[in-house]
Amino acid sequence: MLPFVRPTIEQEDLDAIAEVLRSGWIASGPRCRALEDALADYLGGGARVRMLNSGTSALEAAVLAAGIGPGDEVIVPAMTFVASAQAVLRAGATPVLVDVDLDSRNLTAAAVEEAITRRTRAVMPVHFAGLPVDMDAIAAVAQHHGLRIIEDAAHAIGARYRGRPIGAAGDLVCFSFHPNKNITTIEGGALVCFDDATAAHVERLRFHGIERDADGGMDVGEWGGKMNLADVNAALGLAQLPRLDRFNARRRALAELYLRTLPAHPCLAPPCAGEGHSWHIFAVRIDFARLGTTRAAFQRHLQGHDIATGMHYPAVHTFSLFRQRGYRPEDCPNARTIGEQTLTLPLFPAMTDSDVERVCTALGAVIAEFEHER
Ligand SMILES: *Cc1c(COP(=O)(O)O)cnc(C)c1O
Repeated sequence: MLPFVRPTIEQEDLDAIAEVLRSGWIASGPRCRALEDALADYLGGGARVRMLNSGTSALEAAVLAAGIGPGDEVIVPAMTFVASAQAVLRAGATPVLVDVDLDSRNLTAAAVEEAITRRTRAVMPVHFAGLPVDMDAIAAVAQHHGLRIIEDAAHAIGARYRGRPIGAAGDLVCFSFHPNKNITTIEGGALVCFDDATAAHVERLRFHGIERDADGGMDVGEWGGKMNLADVNAALGLAQLPRLDRFNARRRALAELYLRTLPAHPCLAPPCAGEGHSWHIFAVRIDFARLGTTRAAFQRHLQGHDIATGMHYPAVHTFSLFRQRGYRPEDCPNARTIGEQTLTLPLFPAMTDSDVERVCTALGAVIAEFEHER
């Protein structure tokens, strides 16, 4: 069975973890700080990096660090992992879900502009699948309306926008290092900001609001959570980071092979390619209804060919949490269509070219099976 995702764990990863476990210091400490420095070096620019225990925690800390709370609105694309919108809810603020472009699956400046109200405080672009959002356009709108920008870059570590890594510039940028992402710390995330005061605020938010003075005394002046990353996890990140560009180059080569090899069929839409793409996932759209089937049945047939697939993602506004808040399925039609038609094909650095060819052949065969049945 070919899985749709598999983290690349090699001997150096095992050695790095064993070394920390033997060192006597396994919770947050020197490895975390070293990973923050290594990520800041990788990103370049003025990035200040703070590790957190998940990408979700990074988003939650970013919303809080931006001073967003009850009564405030944050514009979030309806096509993303639900964590993006939930981070806004966690701060007591209101996520305003907007539609995305059908092809890129990304937020557009026009959709942001249309959703702005007196209460809008921030916008949360998501670089979907690793394809960079048109950030210049988003930044122009944000600047004009005085909005903060919280980038959900969970898919985009190593992606590049106008020649620079995502996270080299911006306002608040959040990465995830979940095992499905392009490098992993098992669970883990990072928040990137561009000034020391915000970095210090994030340090307090991630650990009980604690502030330490030069003499080792401490004070607690605000709420803080328990969102720090353990050194065992950071050691894995430190071992993975030097291989990130190699992993991503392999992802890109596999994605390009997919794009050349996918069967041409009116029911099958390939994903949008683009400059700087980190190819976190390779998600096609299939018009299952037109083929007279469902995604679940289609996935079962692919499983019969020993191929596992994923679903990234059902549109956020179609979940009951958001239907209760007044959203109707037809509100964000492109996100809804993507949610209904998306299918994530296997993509991870250890895959071979012949794996891609096998997936494409099976995809053609399964489409033909359903066409024949109809
Ligand atoms: C993975 C992911 C997150 C959450 O990251 P975790 O590390 O799993 O908490 C947030 N947003 C998007 C778009 C993601 O893909």
